[in-house]
Amino acid sequence: MSLTETDQALIDAAIETISKRYRNDWQEVGAALLTRTGQRYVAVNLDAYLGRMAVCAEAVALGQVITQLGEAGIDTIVAVRHPKPHDTDREVRVVSPCGACRELIWDYDRNARVLVPGPDGVEAVGISELLPNKYSRERVL
Ligand SMILES: [Zn+2]
Repeated sequence: MSLTETDQALIDAAIETISKRYRNDWQEVGAALLTRTGQRYVAVNLDAYLGRMAVCAEAVALGQVITQLGEAGIDTIVAVRHPKPHDTDREVRVVSPCGACRELIWDYDRNARVLVPGPDGVEAVGISELLPNKYSRERVL
């Protein structure tokens, strides 16, 4: 799937958010989520001294949606990573969601589009493509 203007606006919103809130080792990833009802939410990750308490930016964005709108679905979601101070590549770039976020995104909208880095730049893929054969009680025969 190729990117739309809405997709690019979502990427720009995620970049703007992490650029504003970046703190080395604490906030390095931004996310932007477009609901099926047309609202856009942005968030940053919450890193933590106790690593297992860390929360991904996608989860923070989804938490805002569920808190404020309820089940509004995920039309499209994207995460971007800010470079660390010593990185030579200074671009904020789109990154793939981690495995846990793939599970979370699928659980809240199995038809969500996810913007990910592809061989020819950023591309849109369905969450099911990123999580084939996901565990689900529905699939137990
Ligand atoms: Zn994640």
